[in-house]
Amino acid sequence: MRALFPGSFDPITNGHIDIIERGAKMFDELWIGIMVNPDKRSLFTVEERIEMIRESVKHLANVQVIHSSKLTVDYAREHDIRVLIRGLRAVMDYEYELQQASANMMLDEKIESCFLVASPEHSFISSSTVKTIAAHHGSLKGMVPLNVAQALKARYPE
Ligand code: ADP
Repeated sequence: MRALFPGSFDPITNGHIDIIERGAKMFDELWIGIMVNPDKRSLFTVEERIEMIRESVKHLANVQVIHSSKLTVDYAREHDIRVLIRGLRAVMDYEYELQQASANMMLDEKIESCFLVASPEHSFISSSTVKTIAAHHGSLKGMVPLNVAQALKARYPE
């Protein structure tokens, strides 16, 4: 079975990678989808985000990266994807995720949402926290892979 992990990944963090590694064990194929949202300002371009993800998941043979500006369920239906994976960190995530999953269910009841709980050591990591720390030249140790830390450093030179 093929699953899609949709998100912004601006940039990918160790929290995302943990969900990807666990999801890749559960499904034959796991596609990571950068779902482009024109209303959301991003630090990295889609191409930069793809490159960073590719480098971070190259050890996983059944994982690939795609991008789309379509509705996630439309993209999924067109590519024979039946499951959407999302990560849950805290109660705060739950409300948003429930709303998204319910809307997706209204749009296509055949596509299921599957939630993986964040590992405790990653539960505080988010792309926005990582960007804030990088902007203030703080340590990103344990939060992002090396290539992402380097890209963030280049964005916020000291
Ligand atoms: P979006 O803008 O769609 O929320 P994100 O890239 O911020 O995209 O997040 C994509 C998914 O990854 C979401 O389901 C989010 O809850 C999950 N996620 C983000 N950070 C973590 C983390 N540290 N641990 C587990 N899941 C996470």
